[in-house]
Amino acid sequence: MATNLLNFDAKGLVDFCNEIGEKPFRAKQLLRWIHQFGVTDFVAMSDLAKGLREKLSTVAVIESPQILSDYEASDGTRKWLLAVGAGNGIETVFIPETNRGTLCVSSQVGCALACTFCSTGKQGFNRNLTVAEIIGQLWMANKLLKHDTESVSAGTQRVVTNVVMMGMGEPLANFDNVVMALDLMLDDHAYGLSRRKVTVSTSGLVPALDRLRERCPVALAVSLHAPNDDLRDQLVPINKKYPLKVLLDACQRYLAVAPRDFVTFEYVMLDGVNDSVSHAHELIKLVQDIPCKFNLIPFNSFPGSGFKRSSAESVRVFRDILQQAGLVTTVRKTRGDDIAAACGQLAGQVMDKTRRTANARAACTK
Ligand code: SAH
Ligand code: SF4
Repeated sequence: MATNLLNFDAKGLVDFCNEIGEKPFRAKQLLRWIHQFGVTDFVAMSDLAKGLREKLSTVAVIESPQILSDYEASDGTRKWLLAVGAGNGIETVFIPETNRGTLCVSSQVGCALACTFCSTGKQGFNRNLTVAEIIGQLWMANKLLKHDTESVSAGTQRVVTNVVMMGMGEPLANFDNVVMALDLMLDDHAYGLSRRKVTVSTSGLVPALDRLRERCPVALAVSLHAPNDDLRDQLVPINKKYPLKVLLDACQRYLAVAPRDFVTFEYVMLDGVNDSVSHAHELIKLVQDIPCKFNLIPFNSFPGSGFKRSSAESVRVFRDILQQAGLVTTVRKTRGDDIAAACGQLAGQVMDKTRRTANARAACTK
């Protein structure tokens, strides 16, 4: 079977070149052709020797997951549903803003951590994405968005400048593949993004967070969602294993090497659950020793979730209390509502075995 070169970071490509009897410098050329120019046809790789191009055409491919659907919301947010085999779909979302374009990337099919308000968590764990499936999301988005840029008016921001690992799945539970994909995002011969512009979001897998600190410290977002262990145990079950004190200590360790001098705490606003004035005060106390910013996320409802979104007024009051205590606090805009594209809510589908693709399409248009 042909080798998918999207599965390799720089080192992997050097090894691959060795295996097929080619010099290591070919790896850099290949990286550029694949990731910077988005070329899939080896014949078009004009600075490779003809013999090598022919060899590659027989032993290798460059293949990202197949696009099942591609929707653009009225606010410019774009969502792709990608096929990852066995009837499963993952989602990738592009969020254009004035000075940047952020791609929200998935890391797993489903998620084992079962946070009670998360639709991905509700579907259980299916499998880890491969490196090709993770980096393939950025590869595909770049190709499609760059192509669009040529046809839209100059100055319209359409290319990916930031990546957030906030799609389906827990990135730190798929450590090796996620880190290889991060390596490619940062590699100057591939995407050349700075560490500050690549964010890993975690619900708090502490040992893996320590490993990330050592191996590839990119910007960090931590899904806090509660100001005390009792409530967090209910909302984010992994808290029973790594409670708040342990998690916040790990955040402190991370900050020593992080590319940004703060951690972003995500806090989903659930009506009557974690959004009271006293929760806000408790939260201020909890994080008093940690340089941090807060991102309040209005809950994205889905059928059977059992939760309701906090009112706009509760979110405003909560934000004001945090801000008055000196904590920089933003409220996530709900983007792309008309295509169910809100990052993090991503309604993953474990599809009915008989109606897989039909279900995927239907879910995407709801
Ligand atoms: N597993 C990682 C990253 C993916 S989820 C994590 O948990 O951090 C990205 C963010 O979306 C997390 O903060 C998550 O808690 C949040 N989220 C999950 N379901 C949500 C929902 N229904 N509404 C709003 N935010 C949600
Ligand atoms: Fe998994 Fe994150 Fe959803 Fe929790 S919020 S179930 S960790 S994807």
